[in-house]
Amino acid sequence: DKLKEGLKKTKNAITERIDQVLVSFGKIDEELFDELEEILITSDVGTEATLRIIEDLKKKVKENKITDPLKVKELLKDELKELLSIGSTELNVEASPSVIVVVGVNGVGKTTSIGKIANQLKQKGKKVVMAAADTFRAAAIDQLEIWANRVGVELIKHSEGSDPAAVVFDAIQAVKARKSDVLICDTAGRLHNKKNLMDELKKIFRIIDRELPEASKEVLLVLDATTGQNAIVQAKTFKEVSPVSGIVLTKLDGTAKGGIVIAISSELNIPVKLIGVGEKIDDLQRFNADEFVEALFS
Ligand code: GDP
Repeated sequence: DKLKEGLKKTKNAITERIDQVLVSFGKIDEELFDELEEILITSDVGTEATLRIIEDLKKKVKENKITDPLKVKELLKDELKELLSIGSTELNVEASPSVIVVVGVNGVGKTTSIGKIANQLKQKGKKVVMAAADTFRAAAIDQLEIWANRVGVELIKHSEGSDPAAVVFDAIQAVKARKSDVLICDTAGRLHNKKNLMDELKKIFRIIDRELPEASKEVLLVLDATTGQNAIVQAKTFKEVSPVSGIVLTKLDGTAKGGIVIAISSELNIPVKLIGVGEKIDDLQRFNADEFVEALFS
Protein backbone atom coordinates (compact mmCIF):
# COMPACT_ATOMS: atom_id res chain seq x y z
CA ASP A 1 0.00 0.00 0.00
CA LYS A 2 0.82 3.67 -0.03
CA LEU A 3 2.52 3.66 3.39
CA LYS A 4 4.81 0.73 2.58
CA GLU A 5 5.64 2.25 -0.78
CA GLY A 6 6.34 5.65 0.76
CA LEU A 7 8.56 4.23 3.49
CA LYS A 8 10.89 2.45 1.06
CA LYS A 9 13.79 4.84 1.48
CA THR A 10 13.38 4.97 5.23
CA LYS A 11 13.42 1.19 5.20
CA ASN A 12 16.70 1.26 3.30
CA ALA A 13 18.10 3.69 5.83
CA ILE A 14 17.01 1.84 8.95
CA THR A 15 15.67 -1.67 8.59
CA GLU A 16 17.93 -3.00 5.88
CA ARG A 17 21.04 -1.71 7.62
CA ILE A 18 19.84 -3.21 10.89
CA ASP A 19 19.19 -6.55 9.17
CA GLN A 20 22.71 -6.54 7.76
CA VAL A 21 24.22 -5.90 11.15
CA LEU A 22 22.12 -8.55 12.89
CA VAL A 23 22.96 -11.15 10.27
CA SER A 24 26.68 -10.39 10.35
CA PHE A 25 26.96 -10.62 14.13
CA GLY A 26 27.36 -14.10 15.61
CA LYS A 27 26.61 -12.96 19.12
CA ILE A 28 25.06 -10.11 21.07
CA ASP A 29 27.71 -7.82 22.51
CA GLU A 30 28.48 -4.13 23.14
CA GLU A 31 29.73 -3.75 19.59
CA LEU A 32 26.39 -4.90 18.18
CA PHE A 33 24.53 -2.31 20.26
CA ASP A 34 27.02 0.35 19.11
CA GLU A 35 26.27 -0.51 15.50
CA LEU A 36 22.52 -0.34 16.09
CA GLU A 37 22.91 2.98 17.88
CA GLU A 38 24.88 4.36 14.95
CA ILE A 39 22.20 3.31 12.45
CA LEU A 40 19.37 4.87 14.44
CA ILE A 41 21.17 8.13 15.12
CA THR A 42 22.18 8.57 11.49
CA SER A 43 18.65 7.93 10.24
CA ASP A 44 16.90 10.78 12.06
CA VAL A 45 15.60 8.82 15.01
CA GLY A 46 17.45 11.38 17.12
CA THR A 47 19.99 10.94 19.89
CA GLU A 48 17.55 11.07 22.78
CA ALA A 49 15.19 8.44 21.36
CA THR A 50 18.09 6.26 20.21
CA LEU A 51 19.74 6.14 23.62
CA ARG A 52 16.42 5.24 25.18
CA ILE A 53 15.79 2.48 22.63
CA ILE A 54 19.27 0.97 23.01
CA GLU A 55 19.07 1.03 26.79
CA ASP A 56 15.67 -0.69 26.77
CA LEU A 57 16.91 -3.24 24.23
CA LYS A 58 19.88 -4.13 26.42
CA LYS A 59 17.56 -4.56 29.38
CA LYS A 60 15.15 -6.80 27.46
CA VAL A 61 17.96 -8.91 26.00
CA LYS A 62 19.27 -9.52 29.50
CA GLU A 63 15.86 -10.15 31.06
CA ASN A 64 14.84 -12.62 28.37
CA LYS A 65 18.32 -14.18 28.20
CA ILE A 66 18.43 -13.71 24.45
CA THR A 67 21.61 -14.80 22.68
CA ASP A 68 20.58 -14.86 19.03
CA PRO A 69 21.16 -11.46 17.35
CA LEU A 70 18.28 -12.13 14.92
CA LYS A 71 15.85 -12.12 17.85
CA VAL A 72 16.85 -8.56 18.66
CA LYS A 73 14.76 -7.45 15.71
CA GLU A 74 11.47 -8.52 17.31
CA LEU A 75 12.47 -6.76 20.53
CA LEU A 76 13.26 -3.63 18.57
CA LYS A 77 9.90 -3.72 16.81
CA ASP A 78 8.08 -4.03 20.14
CA GLU A 79 10.17 -1.22 21.56
CA LEU A 80 9.33 1.08 18.63
CA LYS A 81 5.64 0.26 18.79
CA GLU A 82 5.62 1.10 22.47
CA LEU A 83 7.53 4.32 21.93
CA LEU A 84 5.18 5.42 19.16
CA SER A 85 2.00 4.74 21.12
CA ILE A 86 1.71 7.91 23.14
CA GLY A 87 -1.95 8.77 23.09
CA SER A 88 -4.99 8.75 20.89
CA THR A 89 -4.42 9.47 17.23
CA GLU A 90 -8.08 10.26 16.70
CA LEU A 91 -8.95 13.83 15.83
CA ASN A 92 -10.89 15.46 18.61
CA VAL A 93 -13.97 16.42 16.63
CA GLU A 94 -16.57 14.80 18.86
CA ALA A 95 -18.61 17.86 19.65
CA SER A 96 -20.53 19.81 17.08
CA PRO A 97 -19.16 22.30 16.45
CA SER A 98 -15.50 21.41 16.82
CA VAL A 99 -12.54 23.60 15.95
CA ILE A 100 -9.22 22.54 14.46
CA VAL A 101 -6.52 25.19 14.43
CA VAL A 102 -3.67 24.30 12.10
CA VAL A 103 -0.21 25.76 12.74
CA GLY A 104 3.15 25.30 11.05
CA VAL A 105 5.69 27.21 8.96
CA ASN A 106 5.15 27.88 5.27
CA GLY A 107 5.88 25.13 2.81
CA VAL A 108 5.44 22.19 5.17
CA GLY A 109 2.13 21.21 3.59
CA LYS A 110 -0.30 23.04 5.82
CA THR A 111 -2.80 24.03 3.12
CA THR A 112 -2.70 20.61 1.49
CA SER A 113 -3.25 18.90 4.84
CA ILE A 114 -6.20 21.16 5.64
CA GLY A 115 -7.74 20.21 2.30
CA LYS A 116 -7.18 16.51 2.93
CA ILE A 117 -8.58 16.69 6.49
CA ALA A 118 -11.63 18.65 5.31
CA ASN A 119 -12.23 16.02 2.66
CA GLN A 120 -12.02 13.16 5.16
CA LEU A 121 -14.40 14.89 7.55
CA LYS A 122 -16.82 15.66 4.75
CA GLN A 123 -16.77 12.03 3.68
CA LYS A 124 -17.74 11.12 7.23
CA GLY A 125 -20.79 13.31 6.82
CA LYS A 126 -19.50 16.35 8.67
CA LYS A 127 -20.27 19.87 7.52
CA VAL A 128 -16.96 21.73 7.36
CA VAL A 129 -16.07 25.42 7.19
CA MET A 130 -12.54 26.69 6.55
CA ALA A 131 -11.15 29.98 7.86
CA ALA A 132 -8.33 31.61 5.90
CA ALA A 133 -6.63 33.09 8.96
CA ASP A 134 -3.19 33.18 7.37
CA THR A 135 -3.82 36.68 6.11
CA PHE A 136 -0.13 37.46 5.78
CA ARG A 137 0.19 36.16 2.24
CA ALA A 138 -2.44 36.56 -0.47
CA ALA A 139 -1.18 33.31 -2.00
CA ALA A 140 -2.06 31.43 1.19
CA ILE A 141 -5.67 32.59 0.92
CA ASP A 142 -5.82 31.69 -2.78
CA GLN A 143 -4.35 28.24 -2.20
CA LEU A 144 -6.79 27.49 0.57
CA GLU A 145 -9.65 28.64 -1.65
CA ILE A 146 -8.59 26.18 -4.35
CA TRP A 147 -8.74 23.38 -1.77
CA ALA A 148 -12.09 24.58 -0.38
CA ASN A 149 -13.55 24.47 -3.89
CA ARG A 150 -11.99 21.10 -4.63
CA VAL A 151 -13.42 19.57 -1.48
CA GLY A 152 -16.67 21.50 -1.72
CA VAL A 153 -16.69 23.30 1.62
CA GLU A 154 -17.28 26.90 2.54
CA LEU A 155 -14.29 29.21 3.02
CA ILE A 156 -14.40 32.40 5.08
CA LYS A 157 -11.75 34.88 4.01
CA HIS A 158 -10.86 38.54 4.31
CA SER A 159 -8.35 40.48 2.28
CA GLU A 160 -4.58 40.12 2.69
CA GLY A 161 -3.22 41.88 5.76
CA SER A 162 -6.49 41.86 7.69
CA ASP A 163 -6.81 40.71 11.30
CA PRO A 164 -6.64 36.88 11.47
CA ALA A 165 -8.79 36.84 14.60
CA ALA A 166 -11.49 38.76 12.74
CA VAL A 167 -11.51 36.07 10.04
CA VAL A 168 -11.91 33.40 12.73
CA PHE A 169 -14.70 35.41 14.36
CA ASP A 170 -16.59 35.62 11.06
CA ALA A 171 -16.00 31.95 10.37
CA ILE A 172 -17.45 31.07 13.78
CA GLN A 173 -20.57 33.13 13.00
CA ALA A 174 -20.89 31.20 9.73
CA VAL A 175 -20.52 27.91 11.60
CA LYS A 176 -23.24 28.93 14.05
CA ALA A 177 -25.59 30.20 11.34
CA ARG A 178 -25.27 27.08 9.18
CA LYS A 179 -25.01 24.65 12.08
CA SER A 180 -21.73 23.31 10.73
CA ASP A 181 -19.79 20.56 12.50
CA VAL A 182 -16.13 21.44 12.11
CA LEU A 183 -14.26 24.69 11.64
CA ILE A 184 -10.71 24.35 10.33
CA CYS A 185 -8.54 27.45 10.74
CA ASP A 186 -5.38 28.03 8.74
CA THR A 187 -2.87 30.31 10.47
CA ALA A 188 0.29 32.15 9.49
CA GLY A 189 3.49 30.35 10.39
CA ARG A 190 5.97 33.14 10.77
CA LEU A 191 8.22 31.59 13.37
CA HIS A 192 10.93 34.21 12.91
CA ASN A 193 8.69 36.64 14.76
CA LYS A 194 7.78 34.54 17.75
CA LYS A 195 6.20 37.31 19.80
CA ASN A 196 3.84 38.33 16.98
CA LEU A 197 2.92 34.76 16.22
CA MET A 198 2.20 34.04 19.86
CA ASP A 199 0.00 37.14 20.19
CA GLU A 200 -1.82 36.31 16.98
CA LEU A 201 -2.53 32.71 18.02
CA LYS A 202 -3.54 33.76 21.54
CA LYS A 203 -6.08 36.15 20.11
CA ILE A 204 -7.48 33.43 17.85
CA PHE A 205 -7.74 30.95 20.74
CA ARG A 206 -9.39 33.60 22.93
CA ILE A 207 -12.10 34.20 20.33
CA ILE A 208 -12.70 30.48 19.85
CA ASP A 209 -12.97 29.94 23.63
CA ARG A 210 -15.32 32.88 24.02
CA GLU A 211 -17.57 32.15 21.03
CA LEU A 212 -17.55 28.36 21.20
CA PRO A 213 -16.88 27.38 24.82
CA GLU A 214 -18.37 23.91 24.37
CA ALA A 215 -16.49 23.03 21.20
CA SER A 216 -13.98 20.17 20.95
CA LYS A 217 -10.64 21.75 20.19
CA GLU A 218 -7.61 20.47 18.40
CA VAL A 219 -4.38 22.28 17.56
CA LEU A 220 -2.50 20.45 14.84
CA LEU A 221 1.11 21.25 14.12
CA VAL A 222 2.16 20.40 10.58
CA LEU A 223 5.76 19.23 10.17
CA ASP A 224 7.61 18.23 7.00
CA ALA A 225 9.34 14.84 7.38
CA THR A 226 11.90 15.69 4.71
CA THR A 227 13.39 18.37 6.98
CA GLY A 228 14.53 15.72 9.47
CA GLN A 229 15.92 17.09 12.71
CA ASN A 230 14.81 20.61 11.73
CA ALA A 231 11.25 19.47 12.23
CA ILE A 232 12.06 18.80 15.88
CA VAL A 233 13.54 22.26 16.30
CA GLN A 234 10.44 23.79 14.70
CA ALA A 235 8.14 21.77 16.91
CA LYS A 236 9.98 22.80 20.07
CA THR A 237 9.65 26.44 19.08
CA PHE A 238 5.96 26.06 18.28
CA LYS A 239 5.35 24.44 21.64
CA GLU A 240 6.63 27.66 23.20
CA VAL A 241 4.11 29.82 21.36
CA SER A 242 1.06 27.59 21.21
CA PRO A 243 -0.55 24.53 22.73
CA VAL A 244 -0.24 21.57 20.34
CA SER A 245 -2.50 18.52 20.62
CA GLY A 246 -1.36 16.56 17.60
CA ILE A 247 1.17 16.42 14.79
CA VAL A 248 0.51 16.08 11.08
CA LEU A 249 3.71 14.74 9.55
CA THR A 250 3.75 15.38 5.81
CA LYS A 251 5.86 14.11 2.91
CA LEU A 252 6.70 10.77 4.47
CA ASP A 253 6.54 9.40 0.94
CA GLY A 254 9.87 9.26 -0.77
CA THR A 255 12.01 10.50 2.12
CA ALA A 256 14.72 8.53 3.89
CA LYS A 257 14.07 10.57 7.02
CA GLY A 258 10.98 8.69 8.21
CA GLY A 259 12.84 7.88 11.42
CA ILE A 260 11.84 11.37 12.48
CA VAL A 261 8.45 9.96 13.53
CA ILE A 262 10.23 8.18 16.37
CA ALA A 263 12.14 11.30 17.39
CA ILE A 264 8.94 13.35 17.41
CA SER A 265 7.06 10.91 19.63
CA SER A 266 9.95 10.49 22.00
CA GLU A 267 11.20 14.05 22.28
CA LEU A 268 7.98 16.04 22.04
CA ASN A 269 5.54 13.69 23.66
CA ILE A 270 2.80 14.82 21.27
CA PRO A 271 1.03 12.12 19.25
CA VAL A 272 1.57 12.03 15.51
CA LYS A 273 -2.08 11.83 14.46
CA LEU A 274 -1.90 12.02 10.69
CA ILE A 275 0.75 11.29 8.10
CA GLY A 276 0.98 12.66 4.57
CA VAL A 277 1.99 10.04 2.02
CA GLY A 278 1.53 11.97 -1.22
CA GLU A 279 0.17 15.11 -2.84
CA LYS A 280 -3.28 13.80 -3.73
CA ILE A 281 -6.44 14.42 -1.75
CA ASP A 282 -6.57 10.88 -0.34
CA ASP A 283 -2.91 10.79 0.61
CA LEU A 284 -3.39 11.43 4.30
CA GLN A 285 -3.58 8.55 6.75
CA ARG A 286 -4.41 8.21 10.39
CA PHE A 287 -1.14 7.28 12.10
CA ASN A 288 -1.05 3.82 13.60
CA ALA A 289 2.09 2.78 15.51
CA ASP A 290 1.74 -0.95 14.80
CA GLU A 291 1.06 -0.44 11.12
CA PHE A 292 3.95 1.98 10.82
CA VAL A 293 6.47 -0.34 12.47
CA GLU A 294 5.21 -3.33 10.47
CA ALA A 295 5.51 -1.34 7.24
CA LEU A 296 9.02 -0.31 8.21
CA PHE A 297 10.08 -3.90 8.92
CA SER A 298 8.04 -5.63 6.19
P1 GDP B 1 1.98 25.27 3.01
O1 GDP B 1 2.82 26.40 2.51
O2 GDP B 1 2.47 24.75 4.31
O3 GDP B 1 0.53 25.54 3.01
O4 GDP B 1 2.27 24.05 2.00
P2 GDP B 1 1.38 23.46 0.82
O5 GDP B 1 0.20 22.77 1.36
O6 GDP B 1 1.17 24.47 -0.22
O7 GDP B 1 2.37 22.31 0.31
C1 GDP B 1 3.66 22.57 -0.19
C2 GDP B 1 4.03 21.49 -1.19
O8 GDP B 1 4.13 20.23 -0.52
C3 GDP B 1 2.97 21.29 -2.27
O9 GDP B 1 3.63 21.07 -3.49
C4 GDP B 1 2.23 20.03 -1.83
O10 GDP B 1 1.68 19.32 -2.91
C5 GDP B 1 3.34 19.26 -1.17
N1 GDP B 1 2.85 18.29 -0.18
C6 GDP B 1 2.05 18.50 0.89
N2 GDP B 1 1.86 17.37 1.59
C7 GDP B 1 2.56 16.39 0.96
C8 GDP B 1 2.78 14.98 1.18
O11 GDP B 1 2.30 14.37 2.14
N3 GDP B 1 3.59 14.34 0.30
C9 GDP B 1 4.14 14.98 -0.79
N4 GDP B 1 4.92 14.25 -1.59
N5 GDP B 1 3.97 16.28 -1.01
C10 GDP B 1 3.19 16.99 -0.16
